[in-house]
Amino acid sequence: MSTYNPYENMLNTLDAAANQLGLTRNDYEVIRHPERELKVSIPLQLDNGDVKVYEGYRCQHSTIRGSAKGGLRFHPDADENEVRALAAWMTIKNAIANLPYGGGKGGIKVDPKTLSIRELERLTRNFTRRIAPIIGVNTDVPAPDVNTNGQVMSWIVDEYSTLKGEWSPGVVTGKPIEVGGSLGRNEATGRGCLIALQTYLEREHLDLSKMAVAVQGFGNVGSVGALLISRAGGKVVGIGDVNNAYYKADGIDVEAAYVYANSHGRSLDGYTEEGLTIIGHEELLDLDVDVLYLAALENQVNADNMKNIKARIILEGANGPLTNDADAYFTEKGTTIIPDVLANGGGVVVSYYEWVQNKAGFYWSEEEVNERLKVNMQNSFNAVWEIKEKYNVPFRLAAYMLALQRLTAAIKLHGYNC
Ligand code: GLU
Repeated sequence: MSTYNPYENMLNTLDAAANQLGLTRNDYEVIRHPERELKVSIPLQLDNGDVKVYEGYRCQHSTIRGSAKGGLRFHPDADENEVRALAAWMTIKNAIANLPYGGGKGGIKVDPKTLSIRELERLTRNFTRRIAPIIGVNTDVPAPDVNTNGQVMSWIVDEYSTLKGEWSPGVVTGKPIEVGGSLGRNEATGRGCLIALQTYLEREHLDLSKMAVAVQGFGNVGSVGALLISRAGGKVVGIGDVNNAYYKADGIDVEAAYVYANSHGRSLDGYTEEGLTIIGHEELLDLDVDVLYLAALENQVNADNMKNIKARIILEGANGPLTNDADAYFTEKGTTIIPDVLANGGGVVVSYYEWVQNKAGFYWSEEEVNERLKVNMQNSFNAVWEIKEKYNVPFRLAAYMLALQRLTAAIKLHGYNC
């Protein structure tokens, strides 16, 4: 695992997709390289007076189809390499969803749990000042990702608007409603995952209400997804957050777990219900379920643990939860993988709706947002599926092929010196 390079992984899939489409390197060479990367040092005076300096990043992988767009994560493992791969995945994801965006990603190498709320605010504001020269409503629009949320987005809007001297809510998405957010954005990634799963099940004449589901990760994507899957009839038998994993054969009360986690700092620590047992993280992945919904971090399933996984369907709520080895193994085994760049696109789709609403200064109802999201997810799913059938290729490859078709068409129109 030590030599694992996520950007190389992304390039391998991109090259394989280009190969299937009969593209030459000239056709897509430009998107094998990130357009712009910024690395910053962010000073922070801690509450006790000490000064620490953190590393921060913003990668604009592509602006071929529009402004760079993608989240910001605060995580001790964040680095240039990870952010670069995540930015490239946004380029692919945004093209699949047919949004007028390229792709970007950023982050700070920090464990936010080690900071007080005021320290976190200062760090976020200092980071915003450092990246302000390259972000903007029409240049690069960040959003929440791992360990960032509406509060973090609010600080960014406030700091950026102060710097600009004008109210600029559209500089980030995933904001709370009170500062220009969109109804439905908070639930959008999990909702999109459910729609992707349901669209797949309908095509295969399978019934969610007959399925057992295990969920890795109980942050925004995992918890909302688990909740909506259970409301749609799926039996969620396993859930897990960073600290613990839980199992209940006849189905966990996800509504109760969701409410509990939200009122306990997003943690399931101390959650109980009758019949619920605590299991190991690996045991959660190995449960005999129909659907494994991976909604934690990248590389969670890899050569070390892939062989124990029994699920028939892997739904990728996280970005890059499977290593290339694991992806190849499951493809060979016939496990269906609903790939991240398609399955978790709901978040950025509703980010786009938020940005459109900010630009228009006119806000939509939650029903309208959810309905548009459903149509977008189904269209993307169907477009990928068509390629999958036509070329007889795995789901992920088909998704990359769709993105490449759209990206190379734009590159050609821009001219190859773009
Ligand atoms: N961080 C999310 C993702 O990976 C959302 C990005 C966005 O809304 O811009 O898709």
